[in-house]
Amino acid sequence: MENSKTTNRGAKRTCSFCGRPETEVGFLITGLNGCICDSCALQAYEIAQEITNKDKAAKSGKTLNLQELPKPVEIKQFLDLYVIGQDDAKRYLAVSVYNHYKRLLQKNDGDDVEIEKSNIIMVGNTGTGKTLLARTIAKMLHVPFTIVDATVLTEAGYVGEDIESILTRLLQVADYNVAEAEKGIVFIDEIDKIARKGDNPSITRDVSGEGVQQGLLKLLEGSVVNVPPQGGRKHPEQKMIPVDTKNILFICGGAFDGIEKKIAQRLNTHVVGYNAQQRAAQIDKNNLMQYIAPQDLKSFGLIPEIIGRLPVLTYLNPLDRNALRAILTEPKNSIVKQYVKLLEMDHVKLSFQPEVYEYIVDKAIEYKLGARGLRSIVETIMMDVMFEIPSKQIKEYEVTLDYAKEQLGKTNLSRLQNS
Ligand code: ADP
Repeated sequence: MENSKTTNRGAKRTCSFCGRPETEVGFLITGLNGCICDSCALQAYEIAQEITNKDKAAKSGKTLNLQELPKPVEIKQFLDLYVIGQDDAKRYLAVSVYNHYKRLLQKNDGDDVEIEKSNIIMVGNTGTGKTLLARTIAKMLHVPFTIVDATVLTEAGYVGEDIESILTRLLQVADYNVAEAEKGIVFIDEIDKIARKGDNPSITRDVSGEGVQQGLLKLLEGSVVNVPPQGGRKHPEQKMIPVDTKNILFICGGAFDGIEKKIAQRLNTHVVGYNAQQRAAQIDKNNLMQYIAPQDLKSFGLIPEIIGRLPVLTYLNPLDRNALRAILTEPKNSIVKQYVKLLEMDHVKLSFQPEVYEYIVDKAIEYKLGARGLRSIVETIMMDVMFEIPSKQIKEYEVTLDYAKEQLGKTNLSRLQNS
């Protein structure tokens, strides 16, 4: 084949598909017995792409069936391998994810019972495992998974990303296989950041808050959305891909800073009546998050329609000392196991004195670094070891408490606080 603009065989040639002459098209590509113009070639490509995707979808559709679908108990057990604690959130997630995929598999047997979608919202301090939970579930189910940050979203026409860009990412991870993407999971992080300021509907325009929530609504409830395949702003030349969000599971997460106050207020106002004191005494004031209810999200500034589309509400506990200690070594790919593996590749057996773990946790608590900080601390301790060991002829290395103290002493831990 050759581009006919660079060759000229004299005769007036036309596209064998649409019949337009060479002068009316961008360019013609010449084949053995005919030509194709640029726009027909593009269309042919799109048709081919669609057929291939359908093919792939038909093949992958076989992977999801009720017998093979992991049961809630199995989903929780899998989560336990990677995520420490957070039992309530795990149970809620396991049940709703199981129901979600059962819903995808339901047959229309004419009884008019249609299982509704159960999108999830998780509330809990940053760094307590919300993203990790969502990511781990997606890993187990082998479905496309993407994380988007609600803070970058704005209403169409404003600086920032259109709501539809959420689905662009999902399409990208699904390799543009639309059918696969339509069964995926989207984790929307920092959903609390698009809360409207205050409980009253705004009079002035609230570009990043209520408008975005309205935009999100149609995604959450399930509708066919035209998605720009390359993301960014929609522009007329870009061909949109229609994606149906009916079967996409949305899991939202947010820290909802200060929501405990709203919970406390609600609990106090409700604690009236003759057994009020008894009930007040039962409330665990140190962990109010466990009493979270949809109306608290509303007081925080989520619009009722959004709350209605996120029927499964669960919370994450703050991580205490024991949880931090466990996170260091217990998960299947814990930070410590990752370092051991790294050195194993240099044929060095790495170990830590048990006191080192306690010391790391102490520092994470002292500097309020949370679970994310654990990694930074271990990294700081290990930096010199990682630099030198590959060039040394040793078979074993033990990180001692003295060494850990010395390494951390060289650095200013407070610089890690915002990382
Ligand atoms: P969030 O989404 O709640 O802000 P992440 O899930 O991103 O927090 O957690 C940050 C990191 O901290 C994770 O990648 C993981 O290494 C660690 N982590 C946090 N919570 C847990 C937990 N409950 N179990 C195991 N690791 C955790």
